[in-house]
Amino acid sequence: MVTTPDSTVAARAKYEPVIGLEVHVQLLTASKIFCSCSTRFGNPPNTNVCPVCLGMPGSLPVLNQKAAEFAVLAGMALNCCINETSIFARKNYFYPDLPKGYQISQYDKPLAEHGFIEIKIGGAKKKIGITRVHMEEDAGKSLHEGFADAAEKTAIDLNRTGVPLIEIVSEPDIASPEEAYEYLTLLKEIILYTGVSDCNMEEGSLRCDANISVRPRGQKEFGTKTEIKNVNSFRFIREALEYEIERQIDVIESGGKITQETRLYNSHEGKTYGMRSKEQAHDYRYFPEPDLLPLVVDEKWKAEIAKLLPELPEARRARLVKEYGITEYDAGVLTFTKDLADQFEAAAKAAKNPKRVANLVQGELMGRLKAKNLEIGRSPISMRGVAASADLVESGAISGKMLKDLYDLTFERGKDFPAVYEEEGRPVQSSDMSALEQIIDELIAANPKQVEQYRGGKKTMIGFFVGQVMKASKGQANPQVVNELLAKKLGDL
Ligand SMILES: [Zn+2]
Repeated sequence: MVTTPDSTVAARAKYEPVIGLEVHVQLLTASKIFCSCSTRFGNPPNTNVCPVCLGMPGSLPVLNQKAAEFAVLAGMALNCCINETSIFARKNYFYPDLPKGYQISQYDKPLAEHGFIEIKIGGAKKKIGITRVHMEEDAGKSLHEGFADAAEKTAIDLNRTGVPLIEIVSEPDIASPEEAYEYLTLLKEIILYTGVSDCNMEEGSLRCDANISVRPRGQKEFGTKTEIKNVNSFRFIREALEYEIERQIDVIESGGKITQETRLYNSHEGKTYGMRSKEQAHDYRYFPEPDLLPLVVDEKWKAEIAKLLPELPEARRARLVKEYGITEYDAGVLTFTKDLADQFEAAAKAAKNPKRVANLVQGELMGRLKAKNLEIGRSPISMRGVAASADLVESGAISGKMLKDLYDLTFERGKDFPAVYEEEGRPVQSSDMSALEQIIDELIAANPKQVEQYRGGKKTMIGFFVGQVMKASKGQANPQVVNELLAKKLGDL
């Protein structure tokens, strides 16, 4: 193992990182942003194309209204101001998978600006500013593998050309790789709640570029930044940033200068490599797209879209804690996806006692999931199943002990609660008095010493008898009935 000299550690403490993130999110529309081609992932290459997205001469783009609606919704969820008028612009550059030679994006008049989200870091809240959310079209894809002569050739798939994206640009408010990770996690959660994207990183529906620089602590001016591109998981972004911070400090400390450039992260080696010098905005020769009208989102349309905004994760967590008396941790787990939170609330509301559902989730379900190392999405017991079991306990049909045993069986069999309850013959706890009386009579006859102690004033001895009756009834006796019956029988003697 290589040890880091103390002098290096001291040098690193002198600097602070400044991080800004650019996140591209694919919008979940059925058709592309400026034509009616399908956005379906996984279709054969170059089948989702038409003259517009191929950039044929004479073809004209028409804005997809749904894409604009989704982009506005995302902007609202990120606390942005929605600009009434935003302008599409051409960003000119050559790429083999960009047939038009330009990408339609937004430049100086983006759709949404001045937002923020609030992350939790070390138990405290921190606001991270969102500079802007703008709309743009995606480029195609260069394929370097997966076909016959891939060793010599690169193939182009233009299915992705013209798929609608939003780019979410953060302020350089992020001060550590950990904060970057928290920011991305919360951002993804919020976007998923709005339903405007599936944020599937494997399919490229969410991509992240990170701008990173370091500066001596206390200095106002930013250092020279590098950009780390196309890292495909949040964990890798955190690692890439950790590596890049150390690399930049080492360069500066040894008297070198940081070059403004784009770097790629190699996750196998845990290192970043320089790819090309970073272009500046003026390199792209942006100008207003002449084939599209300005996008106008008037107050009326904005109000309609605002109605589609769901309760967002933070607000929902706070409400669940308050309404159902669950812990913040469990509220966090239950709101992990909107779907799960919806299921929980529907089950809780449908049950006779919503709090009992919450208690069962917290007390019986979470522990078993943890023991089996299962995510809640893979729980054998659905929220509906939890509600059904809660109702059985509520009505007195089954005891708490029976419920625990049935839960164990659901995990053993990988089946939901109602199915296991059926398989077990719909057991009910016994309140059959004559059977119970018989058990108790036999116990009293068989344990004269304990009876004597009880009658001599050692009232706690009743616990012994309750335990014995429960055991004899295989846990199916109603404890309350047993207690009453025992007190009566033991007192009668
Ligand atoms: Zn098309």
